[in-house]
Amino acid sequence: MPHESRNPLSRLDPHAPLVLDTRALSRQPGSERKQTLTVPAPADLGVELLGVPEGTDIELDLRLEAVLEGVLVTGTARVPLVGECARCLDPIASTHGATFQELFVYPDTRSGGNADDDELRLEDDLIDLEPVLRDAVVLELPLSPLCRDDCPGLCPECGARLADAEPGHHHDVADPRWAALQNLTDDGPGHRPEP
Ligand SMILES: [Zn+2]
Ligand SMILES: [Zn+2]
Repeated sequence: MPHESRNPLSRLDPHAPLVLDTRALSRQPGSERKQTLTVPAPADLGVELLGVPEGTDIELDLRLEAVLEGVLVTGTARVPLVGECARCLDPIASTHGATFQELFVYPDTRSGGNADDDELRLEDDLIDLEPVLRDAVVLELPLSPLCRDDCPGLCPECGARLADAEPGHHHDVADPRWAALQNLTDDGPGHRPEP
């Protein structure tokens, strides 16, 4: 039986949009290739209130560079973002540029003293850019995105958008629940004991 050294669990799909073939790059340290490509966004690329809709175009500008230990990938990803303002719940739509640089180590290279489980490796000359893209995009997204930096949010009393409300919008009427409590403490005549 032929010796099979690759791990079937980690085998990359060469047709996956974010799996890149590095065979065109010479293994001579210093050689490099530039690559521009548009790929569909993978699922769940984002945080709760803001993210890249699955399947939308991500534009990648990449530079692959052969170094001693592997292939160094430097790039930028331009992604569309949609989400919701954390204060006023208005929809947000923008684009975001994420930059990244990662080293993919050759499979037969032993990583010196610091064996790192997170180390990225080439598999059959392929590199999987998805975890790199995910880290680069998601880690930069704000957990509380705002439609604009000074978004005043919603009125806590009536829920009106304060950006649209008249200046000084406020409510004088006490909360009816407090009013009810007020009535209980104001001893009415009904509470007086019968003579
Ligand atoms: Zn807002
Ligand atoms: Zn209000």
